[in-house]
Amino acid sequence: MLKQEIYPPTLSILEEKNLITDAVDFALDHGLLIKQKDTGNIIHAPFSLFPSPVSRQAFQNTVDIHTTLNKLFFKLSRDDIFIRKVMKSVIGVDNFMEKLFNIYTTVFDHDTNTQTISLGLNRSDYMLHSSENGLVPLQVEFNTISCGLVTLSSKVTELHQFVHKNDEEILKNLPTCNSIEGVPKGISAAHRLFNSKYLKNEESVVLMVVQPNEWNMFDQRGIEFKLLNKYGIKMMRKSLTEIFNEGKIADGNLVIDNKIISVVYFRAGYCPNDYPTEDEWTARLMMEKSSAVKSPDIAYHLVGLKKFQQILSCPNILKKYLTDPLELEKVRKTFTGLYPLDESEEGLAAYEMALNHPEKYVLKPQREGGGNNFYGNDIPLVLNKLSAAERRCFILMDLITPPTLQNLMVREGKISRQDVQSELGIFGVWLSDGEEVLINEECGHLLRTKKSTSTEGGVSKGISVIDSPYLV
Ligand code: ADP
Ligand code: MG
Ligand code: MG
Repeated sequence: MLKQEIYPPTLSILEEKNLITDAVDFALDHGLLIKQKDTGNIIHAPFSLFPSPVSRQAFQNTVDIHTTLNKLFFKLSRDDIFIRKVMKSVIGVDNFMEKLFNIYTTVFDHDTNTQTISLGLNRSDYMLHSSENGLVPLQVEFNTISCGLVTLSSKVTELHQFVHKNDEEILKNLPTCNSIEGVPKGISAAHRLFNSKYLKNEESVVLMVVQPNEWNMFDQRGIEFKLLNKYGIKMMRKSLTEIFNEGKIADGNLVIDNKIISVVYFRAGYCPNDYPTEDEWTARLMMEKSSAVKSPDIAYHLVGLKKFQQILSCPNILKKYLTDPLELEKVRKTFTGLYPLDESEEGLAAYEMALNHPEKYVLKPQREGGGNNFYGNDIPLVLNKLSAAERRCFILMDLITPPTLQNLMVREGKISRQDVQSELGIFGVWLSDGEEVLINEECGHLLRTKKSTSTEGGVSKGISVIDSPYLV
């Protein structure tokens, strides 16, 4: 339990100054940095001065089920019939979905996807919900592409360890966060596997696909540095446009700057803005057709869509993939109400619920990256503008209201005490070749904390700060 009655404790001006100096110096010294979107300045990433209390049991539950989720999403990504069936419900009106699905059908209809190595680098996000069994984690979403804050999350845990070095109570309840080890480990294992299967003595490198104006490059660079320093593997960074201009396929391999690409690690390509012209789609298809290991491949990307999450919550679907009843039950317990908005009976009922009680739900399109959802009174406004066909591309989800706590948020060296709510993410790594599973691990966590009055989080949007869990 927390010792202090008020947490975080009330600080004297001097205590506050000392803690902030420690924290900001640590952040600047350890590359806990981001690029500010409007000015282009490099500043420390926003963080919480104290770790936020998180139920130990709830945290442990999310960690425990992660290897099951790794397996589940891999199996889904290999279920061609299921993928086609689900995608049918979101194509036709959503051009971005249509384009992604075109890539899928192009490679699978013509058997040009011969890569049997699957590298999943994912993050399952949760918010805690009060129930009669105490605080339980409910899944917000499962991300299968471009899961960020791998490096910065590990660094915030270290920052909290440093800043609170004299507080035994905090130190012993702060779990270590090894995302900065786990993700490079997965990439390096896939790289070695690729080399041993496809190459004789040629050198290969890892490609990170990035957005042209990336704000979070230090998070990405951390992975690049770790790959080189720990594993001796080189990485290149290219945007989709650069890949179109500079890449080619030779003997089935993706080649850029005369280098064979072993692994394509996507930190872009998940939103329409990443594909301003047909060139970027051509680049995506070229990578997909190549021998490189893609993280994610198009199938693994698609099964992370919100429509799949909603369909997985329907009765009898999950047990097709999870045969162990205990595993099935543990995963199912993290699901909250998810509803289609199609013309089925259930979809029409959900439509009515959303119009009558918008305050209870979140309306979500098939998009990633934050800032796309609708809440409260916006829900009927949006729904009323959509045709029945357009509605199919959305899902409705029960609004989760996690407990409101307090924390001190630090942005550009300035501190503010706020009422806050947190979202916990668990990173995972999966590596398999055909039926052989080589890595199935949970690898660290991310806690993002936002003002309780904001509907959405998002470190990139300037709403959330990076935090770490203080297990209670
Ligand atoms: P994205 O792929 O854009 O991150 P999310 O499903 O994670 O989409 O939604 C973005 C944000 O919206 C989340 O980080 C969370 O702050 C908020 N959110 C999403 N779903 C819910 C929900 N069911 N209840 C409360 N807040 C939610
Ligand atoms: Mg997402
Ligand atoms: Mg999210």
